[in-house]
Amino acid sequence: MTAPTLTIDLDALVANWRALDAASGAGVQTAAVIKAEAYGLGAGRVARALARAGARRFFVALTEEAAELREALGPGPEINVFSGHMPGDTDRINDLQLVPMINSIDQMLRHVEALPGHPFGVQLDSGMNRLGMEPAEWAALRDIALEQNITLLMSHLACADTPDHPMNAAQLASFRAMTDGLDVPRSLAATGGILMGPEYHFDLTRPGIGLYGGAPFSEAQAVAHVSLPVIQTRMLEPGETVGYGNAWTAPAATKLATVAAGYADGIHRIMSGDLQLYAGDTPCPVRGRISMDLITVDITHLDEEPAALELLNHIQTVDTLADLAGSIGYEMLTALGNRYLRRYAGG
Ligand SMILES: *Cc1c(COP(=O)(O)O)cnc(C)c1O
Repeated sequence: MTAPTLTIDLDALVANWRALDAASGAGVQTAAVIKAEAYGLGAGRVARALARAGARRFFVALTEEAAELREALGPGPEINVFSGHMPGDTDRINDLQLVPMINSIDQMLRHVEALPGHPFGVQLDSGMNRLGMEPAEWAALRDIALEQNITLLMSHLACADTPDHPMNAAQLASFRAMTDGLDVPRSLAATGGILMGPEYHFDLTRPGIGLYGGAPFSEAQAVAHVSLPVIQTRMLEPGETVGYGNAWTAPAATKLATVAAGYADGIHRIMSGDLQLYAGDTPCPVRGRISMDLITVDITHLDEEPAALELLNHIQTVDTLADLAGSIGYEMLTALGNRYLRRYAGG
């Protein structure tokens, strides 16, 4: 067995959803964002575990992501699509019973002409300038939209990982100005917005990263565990070098383990000088450069040769890696790639 293993703890996932559901408050529905294969962890398995725990509504980025999901969930739960109703999407929206989040006047016309009576949401731009109708577009279209089967008004916060950023209050005011007094359910908060408190919750919250154990949900349980098998060990004499570019020279006799994973598995090369892998609770420094499929690790201080070393465990999280790589937990998770043997625990 030489494949690196990614174990997804479904009990931790469910515990994180329940905690964010409790934080969203009574009377507020808590959805689950499972775009990009549930941030790399497997959309079908993740969605089924959350549906069993009580989640009734899921968000994906593209209609293409919804086929596997509808099969996993069956006909009941609602699947919402952030990118809305694009050319070529009509059959999938109809066949898979998807609810598009309409982003523009063009999308709105396409939707009501192709699928009259089919439910949709509207995504409003409250200042992020990424997706959604601008206030003026919404003002022009609002009365027509309200006569159709509109089931959600939503917007997205740009700075929710920084709670005291003035952008949050500005977006809240803009969203309220566009939606106050309309008899349609509303949604503004993702993980960060949930943590900012009830003003941001409205009728529906849409957590993603917090479900998967990432910041800014600091109380999240770790969901992703990664173990890398040791292929070979060797002894180095003082002065011997390791890996491409001779980037590390042994200052003393050193025992080195080579594990089966590398930058093709999302373990970014830029982390080479700082990354540690773990033998249980004991950190073991990476020596030399991370290669495409291999990493060399110093195990001189271990009493026994380990069969595997851990990249993600209860000590080292996706956010630890993100700090080393100058990135964010979201990117570390979605970069893990296809070579891992995926195992699901609990659920
Ligand atoms: C990705 C995304 C979410 C989930 O955000 P997290 O920060 O992962 O909780 C919610 N809403 C929209 C529009 C998104 O693009």
